[in-house]
Amino acid sequence: KSYGVNELRDMYLKFFEGKGHLRANSFPLVPKNDKSLLLVNSGMAPLKPYFTGQEVPPSKRMTTCQKCIRTGDIENVGKTARHGTFFEMLGNFSFGDYFKKEAIAWAWEFFTEVLQVPKERLYVSVYEEDDEAEQIWHQQEKVPMDRIVRMGKADNFWEHGAGPCGPCSEIYFDRGPKYGCDSPDCFVGCDCDRFVEVWNLVFTQFEKTEDGRYVPLDNPNIDTGMGLERLAVMMQDVDSIFDVDTIRTLRDAVCAKAGVAYHQDPKTDISIRLITDHIRSVTFMTSDGILPSNEGRGYVLRRLLRRAARHGRLIGIKDNFIASLSQVVIQTSKDGYPELEEKRDYILKVLTMEEDRFSETIDQGLSILKSHIEEQKAAGAGLLTGSQAFKLYDTFGFPTDLTVEIAEESGLTVDMEGFRQEMEAQRVRAREARAESNYMGSKETVYNQLDVGMQSDFVGYASEHHQSPVL
Ligand code: ATP
Ligand code: MG
Ligand code: MG
Ligand code: MG
Repeated sequence: KSYGVNELRDMYLKFFEGKGHLRANSFPLVPKNDKSLLLVNSGMAPLKPYFTGQEVPPSKRMTTCQKCIRTGDIENVGKTARHGTFFEMLGNFSFGDYFKKEAIAWAWEFFTEVLQVPKERLYVSVYEEDDEAEQIWHQQEKVPMDRIVRMGKADNFWEHGAGPCGPCSEIYFDRGPKYGCDSPDCFVGCDCDRFVEVWNLVFTQFEKTEDGRYVPLDNPNIDTGMGLERLAVMMQDVDSIFDVDTIRTLRDAVCAKAGVAYHQDPKTDISIRLITDHIRSVTFMTSDGILPSNEGRGYVLRRLLRRAARHGRLIGIKDNFIASLSQVVIQTSKDGYPELEEKRDYILKVLTMEEDRFSETIDQGLSILKSHIEEQKAAGAGLLTGSQAFKLYDTFGFPTDLTVEIAEESGLTVDMEGFRQEMEAQRVRAREARAESNYMGSKETVYNQLDVGMQSDFVGYASEHHQSPVL
């Protein structure tokens, strides 16, 4: 049976409520009291204090659907069927309560009984040293041994910076040979889109300290994460996360804006998916009070928005479109995230302002970049100079990765070292200017003039504060 995204979210949360879990709303994308993380990237991240015992959880069993941003996946977006910079992660958590047996049993029950996913389409992986998990899958759940794959630390040991971590076990869905690649070894763990990892069960047994030691936890925990979009791909039997009901509505709106059809041209399709994804990201980020800026998470927002704006131009969108299309996100996701609807005006205002600012200079910047690229190529140089890239950044608001991306499309690299030097030189100049003029307005940005009663409480992080705009 085919279920919608919003329906699946609710089915999952209800299922785990039925197993004694407290259902909580998604936490904001901005981490609270966590200097190790720029943006929330998993369901577990906001619950860290409960795992480490720093805080007492309201219940030993919780379940959430958490908004996540993973900029580390940005290169994949539009190219694989399964990655977004924004996605929703379903999760059930045990804080020193149940452990592997129950976590595995319930995951299997949810898939094979509630959702009726055919067992012959499912595979599981376990950490190569985790005999216990393998046994539970095989003996308790009767999963045949040839459907259980042992994997190494890179795939099956979960850790994100400091904090709780441990071995994990993943559930994969086989989408069939039509999604496979040419490799004779194409199987679970292959990078192609045939065997898709849907659910990750993390058996949190350790706490990793800031200096990299693994300390066993007194009470081991469970942390699971399942991409809602991937679950929907499996249940709706569609090609990619951009084809599931809610996201497809946005994708179609992108196509309509551009006056292009999907599935006509592979390159255009990548842009369409990328724009679709980035609009989701910027809409949710803005709704959580993040404002575009040149550092930290504000820079992530800025670069996603500008990247989307540029790809919009590539596929023929003439006018500003981000804010107007963000309304589709609000419409299709407000069920799970009422804050989208509540902050609608604010979101539209911020996105409109940011896109306006970029639009003023993008065409000029693009034509200058194009002429730089031609110059360099004519001169037989394989790269853009640091000062060329810096000027595009400084004067035309091109996030550097955008410049790099555009240069790469013409086979050029960018002299990043030179770029950093230009950046540093400018910083020194600015400092001197400030010292001279008793500068008062350092925190003033155009966004401070927005009178909408909402501000990001972000003031910059020691560890993730970006010294340069290169992420
Ligand atoms: P992959 O190997 O496919 O990149 P992952 O192992 O990095 O996924 P986890 O960190 O285990 O992912 O996160 C738990 C779940 O969240 C995954 O099993 C997947 O369903 C989902 N997920 C992870 N990254 C993304 C993404 N970029 N877009 C959509 N869903 C994602
Ligand atoms: Mg990944
Ligand atoms: Mg993985
Ligand atoms: Mg995983």
